[in-house]
Amino acid sequence: MSHTPMIQQYLKIKADYQDCFLFFRLGDFYEMFFEDAKKAALELEITLTSRDGGGDGRIPMCGVPFHSAENYIKALIDKGYKVAICEQVEDPKVAKGVVKREVVQLITPGTVMEGNMLDDKENNYLAVVTEIADQQFAFAYTDMSTGETFVMEIKRGWNAVLSELYNRPIKEVVVEQDFATTLIDELKEKMQLTVSYAIETHSNQAITELVKDISDDQLKQTCMVLYQYLFHTQKRAIDHLKQAQVIELAEYMTLDMYSQRNLEITSSLLRKEKFGSLLWVIDRTVTAMGARKLKKWLERPLLTQSLIEKRLDLVNGFYDQFFEREEIREALQSIYDMERLSGRVSFGNVNARDLIQLKRSLAKVPFIKEQLKQFDSKAVQAFSDSMDPLPELFELLDNSIAEDPPISITEGNLLKDGYHQELDQYRDASRNGKHWIAELEQKEKAETNIKSLKIGFNRVFGYYIEVTRPNLPMIPEGRYQRKQTLTNAERFITEELKEKESLILEAEEKSVELEYQLFLELREKVKMYIPYLQRLAETISEIDVLQSFATVSEENNYVRPNFTKDHHIYLEESRHPVIEKVMKDEQFVPNTIELADDKHLLLITGPNMSGKSTYMRQLALTIIMAQVGCFVPAQRAELSITDQIFTRIGAADDLVSGQSTFMVEMLEANHAVQHATEDSLILLDEIGRGTSTYDGMALAQAIIEYIHDHIKAKTLFSTHYHELTSLEDNLSALKNIHVRAEEIEGKVVFLHQIHEGAADESYGIHVAQLAGLPNPLIKRANVILSQLEGTSSNKPLSSKNREEDNFEIEQIAFFAPEEPAKKGKKSADHEIIENLQKIKLLEMTPMDAMNELYQLQKKAQGAKGRK
Ligand code: ADP
Ligand code: MG
Repeated sequence: MSHTPMIQQYLKIKADYQDCFLFFRLGDFYEMFFEDAKKAALELEITLTSRDGGGDGRIPMCGVPFHSAENYIKALIDKGYKVAICEQVEDPKVAKGVVKREVVQLITPGTVMEGNMLDDKENNYLAVVTEIADQQFAFAYTDMSTGETFVMEIKRGWNAVLSELYNRPIKEVVVEQDFATTLIDELKEKMQLTVSYAIETHSNQAITELVKDISDDQLKQTCMVLYQYLFHTQKRAIDHLKQAQVIELAEYMTLDMYSQRNLEITSSLLRKEKFGSLLWVIDRTVTAMGARKLKKWLERPLLTQSLIEKRLDLVNGFYDQFFEREEIREALQSIYDMERLSGRVSFGNVNARDLIQLKRSLAKVPFIKEQLKQFDSKAVQAFSDSMDPLPELFELLDNSIAEDPPISITEGNLLKDGYHQELDQYRDASRNGKHWIAELEQKEKAETNIKSLKIGFNRVFGYYIEVTRPNLPMIPEGRYQRKQTLTNAERFITEELKEKESLILEAEEKSVELEYQLFLELREKVKMYIPYLQRLAETISEIDVLQSFATVSEENNYVRPNFTKDHHIYLEESRHPVIEKVMKDEQFVPNTIELADDKHLLLITGPNMSGKSTYMRQLALTIIMAQVGCFVPAQRAELSITDQIFTRIGAADDLVSGQSTFMVEMLEANHAVQHATEDSLILLDEIGRGTSTYDGMALAQAIIEYIHDHIKAKTLFSTHYHELTSLEDNLSALKNIHVRAEEIEGKVVFLHQIHEGAADESYGIHVAQLAGLPNPLIKRANVILSQLEGTSSNKPLSSKNREEDNFEIEQIAFFAPEEPAKKGKKSADHEIIENLQKIKLLEMTPMDAMNELYQLQKKAQGAKGRK
């Protein structure tokens, strides 16, 4: 049996949109069928039904109401799906056979325009990757909601592409049909991105125009793929797209994926949220545009000193004048998101309320311009000159849009009186008519003497005169015609009333229709201003970021960094910008950080929790802050430009890719060693921990030596291998520093103070003692240590003769079983302890450790139960 014509139509359209949910318009619903329906029912938690579609058996079906579709679409997009909107494109009343339907828009995670699907403070990017040579790629990304596009060449291989993808909110990647499937899998699984295939279409005039200034053919081609995909999905003109901007990666600091993540620049490592990140501390922007711009700056710190100084000068200007700055901040509050508004204007989904907001924003611009002139800084003043408040656009909006318009643009009341003559006439007609009706009511009341008589209106019957039942006898014979009977009243009409009614309704209908037309015309006029609005938005967002830097710098006592040409770094009383903000009761302890050409490697020793990692990170964060143009948390800051930052921090397994900590460690170390220059900063935090002691120490030493001899990058290296501190004797550019734990009133206290030299060798034992471990244990540890120091190899002391070494295992509080193990019969407790002793922690992944712990706990619980 063949399917009904409608289902045939559905299948035909669906064939072109295999990888999307096809929202098939049927009356007031979008329906989905077959597999789409089953999947959507699950994902959206809606009821799966079925219908007879003519084929064998019933067809699975589910649907969402047209008017609330947006929420369902959002839910699917958020999960990374794509949705094809298929509308009826002819009037069902005149259609012969099945109504014609077409896909009018493809909504995908990277091409979202609708306000409620976007995060105000985040861009939403669609990217394209093409392979241009072995391990070389062209990469472009665009934010359709703001119209900006960036394109670049990536010569450092696939991982650099992944870093670009990771470092910004990219939601979807377009690749060409022949792109390597292994890489596509990585995009999907590791990066959790929606992957789409390039669309082969003919290029159009608009696309040619957008790429005309790109000289490199491969970059041009990549941008064309991007734009073709946009036009294919949107199926309409997109006037707000700006020319693609070519990015030379060599002009920006390289912050790979690992560093971006490890340094918690825009989101925290554990919770993946803004709180606890550098962005969280320095974001005091007022506008959504400013918030997005700040993120963009943080994603690409600068390398060119003059550009950095330019930003710093501006920050300085805003910093120096608190009151003027506060005025600016206040004024920025009423600036609407002009950047995204421009997008919606071009897209045709802007309403009268948006335009009112735009008008109010424009109204603030002259004040901001004036206020900027109040600053002493010439640089800040220059902003004032570059701002065009667009008075003609303001006037246009001020004369046209009503002050408090409705959201809907099809129901009238959008425009002011006096804006358009014909509209005024219709409105007069309708107002006069209504006035006449109000007078009629008074007249009828008086003449019939019925006080409760009233004239009402409803959509079905139009205007009517209503008289309550007890008063009916008072109506003179033949005065009204009966129209409708209610329980308590009768409704009447008169010839005259009906005449007036049709005048009023006609005038209203015409005026609503005319208003809609006028509004569309107005929207077209506003469209002409898009490039100007975009430029204004650009300036305002920059001002916003700069005032934000000035505001945090003042509030947190940051200083302006100085850049020197030699490789020197000197941070006096440096602080960690985030930790100092999240600390509650305690004070952050500032420490000085110094690195020089001839001392560019710092080896940091000290017990756990003393502050080694913090010290290392604060240097990296300070450098990043300085190179985006913000002041930094220190008393004095002398810096040289850092071209790249590499990090190996933190012990979290890369769970997504399933690699163990040690593998990740080595990947990150390799990455640093391969790419770092003498202008780079490398942070290696306790490297070598994930493997056995000898391996780890050997690797750690070899890495330090390699950096020292070949790379000469500034390097901070924290380690628990105390032996490494002796490297200072042979590596001239290496310096030992350490953090100590102190004993105060019998408690271990970390003062978090960095000192020169290596940590005391026995600090570990010292801390153990402070922690209250039994004396015989401490004594034994000291014996082992001194013997280790005596031997040239670092072999652990044989455990055989420990009895003679004056050590009694029963005294260790940790392991002491309540009943000592009975000879011959192993108790369960003893078995657990044995297992514990056998565990090779250093060779385990955290997951293995969890499993082992789980097994042991089960055993322990069993043992307890048996007792
Ligand atoms: P380590 O790497 O030596 O184990 P961390 O750098 O992780 O130690 O620091 C541990 C904790 O100590 C931090 O979370 C922070 O709360 C505190 N801390 C570190 N450095 C300082 C400091 N300079 N001043 C105050 N508290 C600090
Ligand atoms: Mg640490």
